[in-house]
Amino acid sequence: MEMFCLKCRKKVDVDNNKIDESSINGRKMLRASCPQCNSGLAKFVKASVSL
Ligand SMILES: [Zn+2]
Repeated sequence: MEMFCLKCRKKVDVDNNKIDESSINGRKMLRASCPQCNSGLAKFVKASVSL
């Protein structure tokens, strides 16, 4: 999966197996570390919310 690294200032390709899925306040969040600079990446994804 492609995630944007703020430190590298570019999109990096993250191994899907290394992505951590968690949810905060009902929002799904993906966590991973940059394969190039090893800094933490976080990305919010649209969760399927049922109101
Ligand atoms: Zn990076």
